[in-house]
Amino acid sequence: MTVGPRVAVVGAGIAGLSAAYDLTRAGIDVVVIDPADRPGGKLRTSPFAGVDLDESADMFLARLPWGVGLCRDLGLEPALIHPAIGSALVVHNGRLRRLPEGLVLGVPSDLEALQASGLVSEAGLARLAEDLARPEGPPPEDRGEDCTVGELVRSRLGDEVFEVLVDPLLSGVNAGRADDLSAQLGAAQLLAAARRDRSLVRGARAQLPPVPPGGGRAPVFAALPGGMGTLVGALVEAIGIGRFRLGRTVTELIEQPDGRFVIATRTAPAAADPAYGPVADPVASSASGERAGSETVDAVVLATPGPVSAALLGDHMAKAATELGSLAYASVAIIALAWRAANVHGNLDASGFLVPRRSGLLLTACSWASAKFPHLGADGLVRLRASVGRSDDTRFLALDDAELIGRVRAELAELMGIEAAPVAARVHRWLDALPQYRPGHGARIDAVEAELAERLPGVVLAGASLRGLGIPACIDSGRRAAQHLLERLLPTA
Ligand SMILES: Cc1cc2nc3c(=O)[nH]c(=O)nc-3n(C[C@H](O)[C@H](O)[C@H](O)COP(=O)(O)OP(=O)(O)OC[C@H]3O[C@@H](n4cnc5c(N)ncnc54)[C@H](O)[C@@H]3O)c2cc1C
Repeated sequence: MTVGPRVAVVGAGIAGLSAAYDLTRAGIDVVVIDPADRPGGKLRTSPFAGVDLDESADMFLARLPWGVGLCRDLGLEPALIHPAIGSALVVHNGRLRRLPEGLVLGVPSDLEALQASGLVSEAGLARLAEDLARPEGPPPEDRGEDCTVGELVRSRLGDEVFEVLVDPLLSGVNAGRADDLSAQLGAAQLLAAARRDRSLVRGARAQLPPVPPGGGRAPVFAALPGGMGTLVGALVEAIGIGRFRLGRTVTELIEQPDGRFVIATRTAPAAADPAYGPVADPVASSASGERAGSETVDAVVLATPGPVSAALLGDHMAKAATELGSLAYASVAIIALAWRAANVHGNLDASGFLVPRRSGLLLTACSWASAKFPHLGADGLVRLRASVGRSDDTRFLALDDAELIGRVRAELAELMGIEAAPVAARVHRWLDALPQYRPGHGARIDAVEAELAERLPGVVLAGASLRGLGIPACIDSGRRAAQHLLERLLPTA
């Protein structure tokens, strides 16, 4: 009997699952290993006040092809939904104000709309006029290098637009400071705009998608009515539950003389979720109650957070260990709250609001979940998802859940006038969850991958530590990793 190649996918987040899906479809014998008791990594959906609500990501960018593309492959595309409301608010001088139309990652393209919003002073508007007065065409000094978003925007549009619009929008995505963020990985649209035209406003205008003849732009975001858990569930079903080794941490990656790998694992008893079946690989009990095991495979997809990948590659590649190991992460928490609609006054006519860091609030953003996705409010409850935590604001870590809910409620009372007690509230803490890409990160990852291809060609990286933390980018990284290994393992494929 011919035995085909066997691949270990380390990490069952969306990147690992995407890789495992493509490998399985190509007939590869796959094993997916993760310490958690369920697959999905940062994607988790669970019941909250009678509906399935996401504990973290609740939608993804539809303009990038990879999220919608995976849903298409899984037969989920017809189920995709889009937020019912596109416009959002921002906290400005202690009040909620509507963001103007035509923002490209916070950079205004419609100055009349910006002026009407009242968010930027006369001096700030004058600074934008200076930007528009620049001659047309690409800046001659551009050497194609990465920089921070702060460097890019502050120098062209001034501090006010950056602090009132650009930083709140971007830090709503990665919980970091746009002053530190790689423009290439965190704001590629702005970098392209800046390279296209000396005026960033004009360059941003060119980035707006064309309005189709019938009017109305294509939806920016896509989601699933049952939450992101639906995507995870469909992937797990397609891969096959029997291929998962949950409740199991990979501790070492040992290269064999024949080029194969032994993946050493360790588990604490009862960590695995019985829903995903018993642990199938050989185990030996240790005195501590932990059980050691191993898998022997031909190749490995490392779809783990940067520091974990660094630790596992450390013995083989010092450079990769340094680059991936030094990637900083921000911690955040999502506080879900539900009220009876009668207790929430005013119109919830936005997708939610953003909070500039200079407001000093604990909140960093609040998604009006049931306004964005009306099925989440069909039972007469208003459901919100408030966010706290930034790379430079870890105040929430010192608060227990009850204190955190109390602080968030007080800020929501101030901003939205909701005084009543919620009918349900829950906190999800995501520690060291969101990578903070510094300028040059993309090039450093290119170098790590080149070294890996030379030194350990059977190992390939995937996930948010590479070139983007959004769900589509993570899916793309997983599918690319699978493709890379398929070309190696099945050269005639
Ligand atoms: C609160 C929050 C809100 C977000 N909102 C959005 C959003 O609205 N839209 C969007 O596009 N993105 C959003 N994101 C980002 C996105 O969800 C993540 O970047 C993405 O899911 C990461 O996927 P991943 O597979 O790279 O990593 P992960 O999901 O982190 O998966 C890595 C896996 O590796 C496992 N692992 C760790 N150590 C080991 C080990 N030693 N052995 C084996 N396995 C190991 C972990 O248990 C984990 O399951 C959000 C993230 C957070 C935290």
